[in-house]
Amino acid sequence: MPSLESLPNELIHEICSHTAFELDWSDGHPLLALSDTTKHLRSVIEEYSRVLLKRQANLDIRLPKKVTTSTVSRWLKWVSNTCWYCKKNSKRRAILDPTIICCSKCDRDLFPKMTMTDAMRKHRLSKLDLFTPNEKHPHLAPLLHGSYVCMGSPATMFAKADVLAREKLIQGQGKKRRKPTVIILDADLA
Ligand SMILES: [Zn+2]
Repeated sequence: MPSLESLPNELIHEICSHTAFELDWSDGHPLLALSDTTKHLRSVIEEYSRVLLKRQANLDIRLPKKVTTSTVSRWLKWVSNTCWYCKKNSKRRAILDPTIICCSKCDRDLFPKMTMTDAMRKHRLSKLDLFTPNEKHPHLAPLLHGSYVCMGSPATMFAKADVLAREKLIQGQGKKRRKPTVIILDADLA
């Protein structure tokens, strides 16, 4: 039976790619745990981290002669302290996706959002229209939402595009329901 070590490096890199951007690792990061198992895996993961640093951070670093875990540590430090879009220092999580690091400017510019209050007031959506599925809309998919502290109080945010699409859908459903039914009586035809 083939072991992880016997796999080609490209395949090991592919496996690593599923955890390379993992930010919540208080119990130890899978890349570090894996690189601690054997000298060969440590060397493969150090090389993988070097490639990531080059590709994502444009850092061209040389691997040390002695195989250590310094490159993977460097990668993990970079990925958890840098906005993944503009590459500036940041530890801030994106409002709608806390699994990514995103500075407030990029979050605002790249992911237009709307407060729940605006979605309800300006787009005539109820909480049941927004927080789906529920008894009113059992087949509507959930909308991404997140919490954001604004002027000291938390605000619930939705993606603007999601709110507009939901408004269109709910309005369409309303129109269908309001469509008058024309009943033709035999007497009218006479
Ligand atoms: Zn940014």
